[in-house]
Amino acid sequence: MTLLPCYTLTYMSSIFSKIINGEIESHKIDETNDFFAFLDINPIARGHTLVIPKKEIDVFFDLDNSLLSEILPFAKAISKAIEKSVECNRIGMMVAGLEVPHAHIHLVPITSTSDLTFANARPMDQDTLAEIASKIRANL
Ligand code: AMP
Repeated sequence: MTLLPCYTLTYMSSIFSKIINGEIESHKIDETNDFFAFLDINPIARGHTLVIPKKEIDVFFDLDNSLLSEILPFAKAISKAIEKSVECNRIGMMVAGLEVPHAHIHLVPITSTSDLTFANARPMDQDTLAEIASKIRANL
């Protein structure tokens, strides 16, 4: 008898997929069928928001062209609401993805180019995050 190796494939969904399906709490800003937006828990600035596709794909530029072309209009509406909710000059945008392997855009309120750095990221308490999220939702 030949014994065949048995491989068990365990699929671990990303922390962001767990946020989308409600297994992990988040300060949600908005969602559509394809996208989800919520506050970063270690914001670079008040209002720092993550915009993600619901489809779990690691690398941002591996998203198919239709998702790529639709994610910016979704992010645009969120950025306009953030601008109305916190003090800033404009909303900066970054794509990194080195920490969480689920494509995402960082929308960060900035007043100068030097604000756009992860060196400024700090944990924020839940009450403050909840207050900011509710302001941004109200301005959508
Ligand atoms: P990066 O993958 O480096 O582009 O960044 C991932 C971002 O996800 C970081 O800014 C983290 O603070 C943020 N992050 C990680 N876990 C959570 C979470 N549970 N809720 C909100 N933001 C998160």
